[in-house]
Amino acid sequence: MRAVVIGAGFAGLSAASLLQKEGWQVSIVEKNQDIGGRARLWEEGGYSFDMGPSWYLMPEVFERFFQLFGKKREDYYKLEKLDPQYKVFFEGEDPVLVSADLGKTRELFESFERGGAAALDAFLRSARYKYDTAMKEFVYRSYTSIFQFFNRKILTEGLKLDLFSSLDKHIGKYFQDHRSKKILEYTMVFLGTSPQEAPALYSIMSHVDLNLGVYFPKGGLNGVAQGLQRLFEELGGKIIRATDVTAIEVVNRKAAGVRTRDGLIEADLVINSGDYHWGETRLLPPEYQSYPEGYWKNRVMAPSMFILYLGVKKRLKDFEHHNLYFARDWGVHFDQIFKNPAWPENPSYYLSAITKTDPSMAPRGCENLFVLVPISSGLEDPPDFRKRYTEKILDHVEKTTGVKFKDSIEVLRVFGPSDFETDYHAYQGTALGLAHTLFQTAVFRPRMRSRKLPNLYYTGQYTHPGVGVPMTLISAELVAEDIKKRWTKRK
Ligand SMILES: Cc1cc2nc3c(=O)[nH]c(=O)nc-3n(C[C@H](O)[C@H](O)[C@H](O)COP(=O)(O)OP(=O)(O)OC[C@H]3O[C@@H](n4cnc5c(N)ncnc54)[C@H](O)[C@@H]3O)c2cc1C
Repeated sequence: MRAVVIGAGFAGLSAASLLQKEGWQVSIVEKNQDIGGRARLWEEGGYSFDMGPSWYLMPEVFERFFQLFGKKREDYYKLEKLDPQYKVFFEGEDPVLVSADLGKTRELFESFERGGAAALDAFLRSARYKYDTAMKEFVYRSYTSIFQFFNRKILTEGLKLDLFSSLDKHIGKYFQDHRSKKILEYTMVFLGTSPQEAPALYSIMSHVDLNLGVYFPKGGLNGVAQGLQRLFEELGGKIIRATDVTAIEVVNRKAAGVRTRDGLIEADLVINSGDYHWGETRLLPPEYQSYPEGYWKNRVMAPSMFILYLGVKKRLKDFEHHNLYFARDWGVHFDQIFKNPAWPENPSYYLSAITKTDPSMAPRGCENLFVLVPISSGLEDPPDFRKRYTEKILDHVEKTTGVKFKDSIEVLRVFGPSDFETDYHAYQGTALGLAHTLFQTAVFRPRMRSRKLPNLYYTGQYTHPGVGVPMTLISAELVAEDIKKRWTKRK
């Protein structure tokens, strides 16, 4: 039996390996020359830039994935625990380090407000409970109907898990100081939503951050994608690069393969791991679309991003591997992302200096910087605007961190909403797909199996459980399990 997987990002590579292991002959068709999807690598002038994700979180998900093949993660890439985990620059206040040592983080929270350490203990206890329950009951589970989701368990557990209140209100019950709140809320940007819109369930992200820790895979997150590629090829799978799928072929109400400029690639099963909107509205004729254009117009899309990749000809001692800047009134920026789309004037941002941990990602004595400003999806970024905004962000970073590097930049690349559209077919230039609001969580995310074509599947960040590298591995596992169940029944 032959399967075609559209896209060689984390979800596509993972789903493809899982099927290949089950005896399918799998080909991945990837539009770009490089694998990794949003986690591609860009090399220029001796610098190697991880173009997308840079935080390796929830390590147990990756360990479990490799174990499914009887393999060990360390045979594919090495991991290092980061300490400090990150540095936070607060507007108008001293920067702080968030340590891998929870004892030090408790002291930090106590320094922000009296009783902060005890509040953190209580908050993380509840976050740990939610995380353990969510992983067991909701995350590693696929949903095909609303009744499966709203069963007795979720109605009872849902209340304990704070599914129905907002994260911002939940955190407000424990903490008063804006710095404590920000450290516990910033991870929502990873989920493409705001603390006001995110269900309080997502306090699990603070468990992920402060209890489970932040890791660095050798070679960056693209090194992980390369590990997955190696696994897939060892299993006998094939990757066809630089080939855009232009249509999903339908014959007798079944997917029969994919069309590319080189012709038809026939298959008994198709999995699309590319952007869901594009797959439904551009690759399928209207009668086979489960989610036509109108559906997407009513979704809350996750943010897009304005990213700078910078090769800097000197070492910068005041940055850590991961750095965050939080504006005092960061609500203005959140509004500009989610309510009144506009380019932010005083943006909160993320800056990574991967060379702090892995100097081989830049020429000797140089720094590899990545600056990420989350912005609303759907914004336009014509070339002259990008130039001006780049200048503005470089000045903003220098001013807010006090670190001077502009005059030493020797490599600079900008990546904005129009690049997400061109490079990944991203709807409205979204970087992360669908936001994690309550009504876009679990059963409310688009289905992993097409309603119209029984052998067409979807995997990746648009599907359950959602955004983030570990989630895409889980999504691939869920898809592969469903396929295994249905195809074994048929045999
Ligand atoms: C800048 C950035 C920073 C992030 N930071 C983090 C982080 O620190 N930690 C974390 O866990 N997550 C992070 N994320 C989120 C994470 O990267 C994504 O959720 C994840 O990589 C998505 O993987 P995917 O396989 O679902 O999709 P993708 O990576 O988008 O892969 C889909 C692939 O399909 C291909 N494709 C699309 N259409 C077609 C077609 N018609 N024909 C052929 N191929 C096609 C695309 O080219 C792409 O390669 C970040 C994302 C971005 C953009």
